[in-house]
Amino acid sequence: MTTSEQLFEKAKTLIPGGVNSPVRAFRSVGGTPLFIKSAKGPYLYDEDGRQYIELINSWGPMILGHAFEPVEKAVRDAIQHSFSFGAPTRKEVEMAELITNMVPSIEQVRMVNSGTEATMAAIRVARGFTNRDKLIKFEGCYHGHGDSFLIAAGSGAMTMGIPDSPGVTKATAADTLTAPFNDLAAVETLLANNHNQVAAIILEPVVGNMGCVLPEPGFLEGVRTLCDQHGVVLIFDEVMTGFRLAKGGAQERFGIKPDLTTLGKIIGGGMPVGAYGGRADIMQLVAPAGPVYQAGTLSGNPIAMSAGLAMLHHLNEHPEVYTRLDAIGEKLTTGFKAGLQKAGLPYTINQLGSMFTLFMTERPVANFSDAKSCDVAAFGRYFHAMLERGVYLAPSQFESLFTSIALTDDLIDQVIQANEESLLVMMTGSPER
Ligand SMILES: *Cc1c(COP(=O)(O)O)cnc(C)c1O
Repeated sequence: MTTSEQLFEKAKTLIPGGVNSPVRAFRSVGGTPLFIKSAKGPYLYDEDGRQYIELINSWGPMILGHAFEPVEKAVRDAIQHSFSFGAPTRKEVEMAELITNMVPSIEQVRMVNSGTEATMAAIRVARGFTNRDKLIKFEGCYHGHGDSFLIAAGSGAMTMGIPDSPGVTKATAADTLTAPFNDLAAVETLLANNHNQVAAIILEPVVGNMGCVLPEPGFLEGVRTLCDQHGVVLIFDEVMTGFRLAKGGAQERFGIKPDLTTLGKIIGGGMPVGAYGGRADIMQLVAPAGPVYQAGTLSGNPIAMSAGLAMLHHLNEHPEVYTRLDAIGEKLTTGFKAGLQKAGLPYTINQLGSMFTLFMTERPVANFSDAKSCDVAAFGRYFHAMLERGVYLAPSQFESLFTSIALTDDLIDQVIQANEESLLVMMTGSPER
């Protein structure tokens, strides 16, 4: 037994499924999750001392590579002044100023502790602002584990086959309307059938949580226009794309201005942080400025703010990070496509900047039902073949991969080589694990 296997056996007796977040359990790919001991730059090290090239990077935050020195130093410095005060700090003001500079649609911002908290608060504010109850989300988009969002949800919910979670009341579910991603006509129909009842439309402008799915030309613009026509608050959930696709997120890349934005992942530099913000007239409704209640004992935590500030400052001041990430994404995609061609597999790759997914399907993937056409058994074999070759992917077909700037050209070549070999192993049908 490996150390990971021993730890997992014990974990399963103490923690539901042995993990603190579902996708980590390797359920959809089979086998035992690796227990991670440490990481540095482009590498992850497990409890058995094996080294892996990182293509998840903590689901996004490690965009500058693991244990990036300026972030590490900021945390070390901050720790000397105690860890939490439950009172306002200078760093929170700096953080708010930096976020509003980097993401111009955000005029005011509130810090929270996770992406889930950010999206739950954002829809509450949108409901308070419009005095309406309903919400439109897209099938396969994931917005954290708030009750309202566990309807046709992506990410782990999709991977585990539970996109509609038990435990969500019928009343809550009834207020969440869903449309296929990239289907503007479906949104129009929902708005017409629920006249003056829809408070918000929430979406991932580039989806990461059913695998990487791009908005078709005109889709985001169309949603923006419909929101304006119907008095609906447009929420971009940029927990994944924020500070990743550009310093101002997907909204900068596509030139669309949402009313509210939710942030997470990169914003904490690896610490548990989220944020929501947007138009000042909407954010002024948040307590204590206004009547919509939202609070948090550890919100704006000084250690977390220090890590996040160091991360965001670096991204804000080094635009070459994004040029490099785009180049890495393109080089990987080109190499993966060549691998598919050699293996004679007509599979689909979606990519934008540092986000990409190899979908085990011949169909172009533009929405949830396209994504669901993938051969997940083949993905499981491929996943383990990659792991065997020292490449750590997301343990699910329905996730995007995330690169960091720590990925050198040599490492990219190694990953491309591993992909070629793994596709061949996958086709023989026998998992290596
Ligand atoms: C990860 C994610 C969330 C949830 O964030 P947590 O910090 O895991 O609660 C919400 N929305 C999107 C788009 C995400 O990718």
